[in-house]
Formats: sequence, C-alpha cells, structure tokens
Amino acid sequence: MSDASPLIGVLALQGGFEAHQRMFAGLGVKTRQVRVPADLTGLDALVLPGGESTTMTLGIEREGLGDPLRELAAGGTPILGTCAGMIILDRVHLGILDVLAQRNAFGRQLHSFEADFDVAGVEGGPVHAVFIRAPWIAEHGPGVEVLAQIDGHPVAVRQGRIVALSFHPELTGEDRLHRLFLTTAGIEASGREQ
Ligand code: GLN
Repeated sequence: MSDASPLIGVLALQGGFEAHQRMFAGLGVKTRQVRVPADLTGLDALVLPGGESTTMTLGIEREGLGDPLRELAAGGTPILGTCAGMIILDRVHLGILDVLAQRNAFGRQLHSFEADFDVAGVEGGPVHAVFIRAPWIAEHGPGVEVLAQIDGHPVAVRQGRIVALSFHPELTGEDRLHRLFLTTAGIEASGREQ
C-alpha cells in the first residue's frame, strides 16, 4: 500500500451500493461510486453489489465497463461481489471468477430467508446472513476456495483476492465479512468501532 489512504470503488449502476459504502465508512475506509471506466482509476479494491444481474450486465455493456473491469481483476485488484455481484463475476458474465453461479437458486419457496453459519476465516461464531433471491455456486474450478456452504452448495468463495458471497453482509449490521474482505485485500480498517 502507498501512504495515501485506501480507496474502494463501489459499482453504482444499480442495486445496493450505498449500504456497502456505509459499511466501509464505519470501518474508516473511503469509497467512490463507480459508473464509468474513468472512475476505476486509482482504486485499491472494488465492490460489485447486489441488485439485478441482468440490469447490471446491461449497464456494464452500455458504459463500456466490461474490459476495464476484467483488466482491473487481471492486475490483481481485490474484488468483493455480493449476490448479483457474485453472478456478474462468474464464467458466463465477466469471466473473472472460475465459477458458475446459479441465479435464484434457492427456489420459489425460499426467495428470501436468513441463516446462521460459520464462514472460514471469520472468527467469533456463526455469521447471520440475509439471502434475497440469492444465487449459489453450481460449479467451481480448483483455484476456488469454498468458505461457507448451505446444504452442500457454496455460498461464500474466494479465489486469490476475489471474494464472492451469495448473501448480503451489508444488511445485517455486522461487519465481519467486510473485514474479511479488507484482510484479503491487504487494507487496514481504522474504524471507531474496533
Ligand atoms: N436474483 C438476482 C439476480 O439474479 C440477485 C438478487 C440480489 O442481488 N439480491 O440478479
């Protein structure tokens, strides 16, 4: 890291980007909304939020963000994808993560639900997670580490410096997943609440 304070970009075309910004603000880390390729300059990490993956994909195409995002990932910039963000990272979308995400995987009866489970690398007991029309990982390559699963389906994975979650840690009032991402990204939290 340079001496300048770290800056995390949050893709802000659609979806739950503001909740991620609030989480990082609570951890003392600055964020910038990303809407066009120029907004990617100088970022130390990037978040792809939840929302609607089809709408976000169209926005990425419209703004010419696909290649710049792939270049960012190839250059080693850490990325966190949550829910729709996980889908966008997969093989058939941006092709950044060696996984195949299955959209709305939990079925009609389980559009939205909450669950508690352990996540590898997260200390202090189970994480309370909110799932909203969530995907799971249907297939993944050997370089992908599964951090948590539900009924045998991966819902939290890491590949190098890329973390993808089926659920919404920005909505449950706990910051351990954002801290895990900061650790993966090599960024130090400096929030008041430590
Ligand atoms: N079901 C949405 C999709 O397929 C994702 C939902 C979410 O991000 N909460 O894009």
